[in-house]
Amino acid sequence: MSLRTAQLARLREDAFDVLIIGGGINGAVSAAALAGQGVRVALLERGDFAGGTSSQSSNLVWGGIKYLESRDFGLVRRLCRSRNRLLDAYPTRIEEIRFLATLRRGFRYPRGFMWAGTWLYWLFGNAYTRPPRLLSRADIAAAEPCVALDDSGGGFEYSDAFLPGSDARFVFDFVRAALDAGAAAANYVEALHAEHGADGWVCRARDVDGDGAPFDIRARVLINAAGPYADAFNTQTSTRTTHRHVFSKGVHLIVDRITAQRRVLAFFASDGRLFFAIPMGSRTCIGTTDTRVERPEVTVTDADRDFILDNINRQLRLERPLTRADIVAERCGVRPLVVDGQGGDERDWLALSREHAVEVDPRAAHLTIFGGKLTDCLNIGEEVTARIAALGVAVPQRGARWYGEADTPQREAFMHQAQAIKLEASAAPGATEPAGARLWRRYGARAFSLLDAIRDDPAQAEELIPGAQYLRCELALAARDDMVVRLDDWLRRRTLIALTTHADELRAAPGVQEACRVLFGDEAERRFAEFVQEKFPSGH
Ligand SMILES: Cc1cc2nc3c(=O)[nH]c(=O)nc-3n(C[C@H](O)[C@H](O)[C@H](O)COP(=O)(O)OP(=O)(O)OC[C@H]3O[C@@H](n4cnc5c(N)ncnc54)[C@H](O)[C@@H]3O)c2cc1C
Repeated sequence: MSLRTAQLARLREDAFDVLIIGGGINGAVSAAALAGQGVRVALLERGDFAGGTSSQSSNLVWGGIKYLESRDFGLVRRLCRSRNRLLDAYPTRIEEIRFLATLRRGFRYPRGFMWAGTWLYWLFGNAYTRPPRLLSRADIAAAEPCVALDDSGGGFEYSDAFLPGSDARFVFDFVRAALDAGAAAANYVEALHAEHGADGWVCRARDVDGDGAPFDIRARVLINAAGPYADAFNTQTSTRTTHRHVFSKGVHLIVDRITAQRRVLAFFASDGRLFFAIPMGSRTCIGTTDTRVERPEVTVTDADRDFILDNINRQLRLERPLTRADIVAERCGVRPLVVDGQGGDERDWLALSREHAVEVDPRAAHLTIFGGKLTDCLNIGEEVTARIAALGVAVPQRGARWYGEADTPQREAFMHQAQAIKLEASAAPGATEPAGARLWRRYGARAFSLLDAIRDDPAQAEELIPGAQYLRCELALAARDDMVVRLDDWLRRRTLIALTTHADELRAAPGVQEACRVLFGDEAERRFAEFVQEKFPSGH
């Protein structure tokens, strides 16, 4: 029986303390925190895990230096501390990274003022990272010759953190942790509506990828973690809240690597906002935009593409300017920003929008999570646990550690074994990090089984798709543990492959066919055709 089939059976049969709607970062981290502390949890996601906003981020784990400008010092301090906790807990999945910021002459603040701001930021972060550094034009030219310095008066360098892998994979790892701790969780299961009665909540759901027939799930408490759709789901359950969401659309474009250095290039775009070029495997991710929209369903427009390309071309001195033909992949999503009451005007937009809020209705045993950030995830997990306990749900292992990577001795043992089988000798040309470090970062202690597979069959250490930085042995693990239902789940959300490889190349790659056979068995052809239909609807 597949992992997902077993989970569907549990959702139908078991009764739960808590049912969570939405498998983005907020739902996933809540499930991991609660299950990891002994609560009986169920988690539903109507698409793939992290298929919403949580796979469209900038991959930054950051203190939000830009919120210093709006003097939101409390938020910056909290986010800096969250960043530090995550850096501590995930020493390989989250990395400190230097941001090289270039300032144009005549910028709205003098360079000295900005420089003081980076020190304040560093202090807000308890001096946890490397200190900032003032850069002259010559320093920038030496460090990053691709930066255009024509009207620049220099800049500065400071530290923050980022996810070198996939943001969606980071989210899925919380789902995986919840499953390991006994939660029931399934993707492609939609919550249609839910009702609260004397015996708790009954949620009507349907298997979107199966026959679609509705079935009921029972729980004492309901958590609405539907992100941009939280307000809509609250309407379905007649839940009234004082908070609500407004939406800001953000787009990133992924292009060939702009700089060989592992650092973020930061600029101020023509609209005055911070704008980044961020390393993403063998590529660079550029963005983002920030456009207020009324609805969460968004797509990338030519105006978005031109805004990003114009800005990056103005800031860089490349051999030739980047054009739409250089785009390898795109990401697009809405930030669910929380406002209080009927707010949403300019004041709310700037002052309140980047916080999160957990609103509880104790009579209905109902929680809604509004807003939030990947960076804030551990706090949200803890806050949700406290709120659930306050509702009278037993948390039998309160305080048990529910997050973080396996400890350093295990990592060292893994790296030692990887060296013993000469894993690095089979490294593909152009790899941006050693294979052993990459496998540990992706799978932690589960990566030991990959070394066993390579020992049995050296072909398992071969790269599956040229340039994708993915070994054949990873497939069997994905098929067993990663609840991959559709090909795009694997290409786009368990790995970075769809973001770093052109869709055309993927369609033609023998490695993708091989992946379909391992991941889907008899269903391989159907799943591949489904992917082609989705990516190339007009047949081209
Ligand atoms: C462009 C951009 C850049 C960003 N950059 C960063 C960054 O660098 N760092 C950072 O910390 N944060 C960043 N963020 C913010 C962060 O990504 C989001 O705040 C966060 O991902 C929101 O998570 P969520 O779980 O609330 O929502 P989502 O990820 O959207 O998850 C909600 C889920 O609920 C599901 N759902 C909805 N209705 C139902 C239903 N009826 N039944 C079942 N499931 C349902 C949806 O399918 C969805 O998957 C960025 C956001 C954007 C848009």
